[in-house]
Amino acid sequence: MSDFSALLSQVPRIQHGFGSKEALLPLSLQPYSESLPTKKQVHGLNIVDVTAPRQPCGEADGFYTELPGILLTVFTADCLPIIFSRKDGGAVGAVHAGWRGLRHGIIEQMVERINRQGSTADWVASIGPAAGACCYEVSQELVDEFQQSLSLSPALISPSYRHLDLGAIAHAKLIQAGFSAVDFSGSCTICTPKAAETVSERAQASPFKYTSFRRNSLQRAVDPSLPGISGRNQQSGIVILPD
Ligand SMILES: [Zn+2]
Repeated sequence: MSDFSALLSQVPRIQHGFGSKEALLPLSLQPYSESLPTKKQVHGLNIVDVTAPRQPCGEADGFYTELPGILLTVFTADCLPIIFSRKDGGAVGAVHAGWRGLRHGIIEQMVERINRQGSTADWVASIGPAAGACCYEVSQELVDEFQQSLSLSPALISPSYRHLDLGAIAHAKLIQAGFSAVDFSGSCTICTPKAAETVSERAQASPFKYTSFRRNSLQRAVDPSLPGISGRNQQSGIVILPD
């Protein structure tokens, strides 16, 4: 099953969803896949205004549109997918934010784009499945860098030794930026098990709900024959429904 945001589910005229292994592109979004802009995500700060179906966006990690029928998605596998919508469903956005994007300001770029013609007070956002604070261990240097550069509580940034809480950082940034409401959809990509419904499902080799770059890398260190995750990232996205 795909993950959905309780907040975004209340917005009229849009369809959204957060992917998982079972449906890398959520079923609710598949009818619109032909309209997808082309893009290369590079952990950068570029937000592209999408004004035509299948628009070539080049290197970009954020997308914004006011046009119905154009699906915006981001690929993730431990990074945060963040989906945005104006409360009337008249404008939407999507951002791919890993630690680099969060550290260097991809959320601030989307805030700037939204505030150019409107106000974040009229928007909601949902943070999708990503590496959780339970599993996302990083270097102490990186924790220090976040704690020194952000005006947030050190315990919010790193709730346990050398673990970074990407979702909490994003949530705090979005609230500070004035969004009317922000929620979380899905859970930790590294440790969430697949919800097994039958005995044969429980016996399957892959017990996890999401694709995880981190978990896959650890498994590959033990077993180099294990395939990489290329082409298996989940996609999360949003579309303004055509009239
Ligand atoms: Zn976890």
